Amino acid sequence: MKDLRSALAAAARDFYARGWMLGTAGNLSARRDAVSFWITASGRPKDALTPEDFVAVDLDGQLLESGQERRPSAETSIHRVIYRHFPSAQVIFHVHSVEANLCGHFARDGRLRLPPLEMLKGLGIAEVDPQIDLPVFRNHLQVEQIAEDMNASFRQNPPRVPGALIHLHGMTAWGPGLTEARHHLELFEFCFRYLSMARLLGLGGES
Ligand SMILES: [Zn+2]
Repeated sequence: MKDLRSALAAAARDFYARGWMLGTAGNLSARRDAVSFWITASGRPKDALTPEDFVAVDLDGQLLESGQERRPSAETSIHRVIYRHFPSAQVIFHVHSVEANLCGHFARDGRLRLPPLEMLKGLGIAEVDPQIDLPVFRNHLQVEQIAEDMNASFRQNPPRVPGALIHLHGMTAWGPGLTEARHHLELFEFCFRYLSMARLLGLGGES
């Protein structure tokens, strides 16, 4: 399997420039082999990552390889849940944008109805007037709790789109490769921007 650490670092620089990974927020990962993945180390500035800022962990959370004795991201458990549930997921991006945080307020019963935009095609939804809900999870100080909630939800009701929102926290999107994961994240963030603007303009948000 290709080592995507440098490509992840480049993606992080781009996301940082867009204001999605300010401070040391957010984390990125890519599968390393069938049973492990590379993930950003905890507390590293996302505009200056190098391959040494990634650590390898297995799907049980065991640390396998660490440049300069780095610790894995505090949110590694969320990535583990996603890789376990979605075998096609090869890359996962988790970012904190203003719009994603605003849109959590528009969720009802743990779901956010995505606007029925043409853009949803890029998320694998090719329907007229699509009624697609994005799962929204409560934030917890203990990230393990968020991961447990996701695990239970994905088991019972897997999302139709490759992403999940954590309320007052940020968006996680995945895909079968770096490019697809990036496109998915961009499309979700586009939907969040649209919903935020629609509310601001009094359009009601969902249509
Ligand atoms: Zn986060």
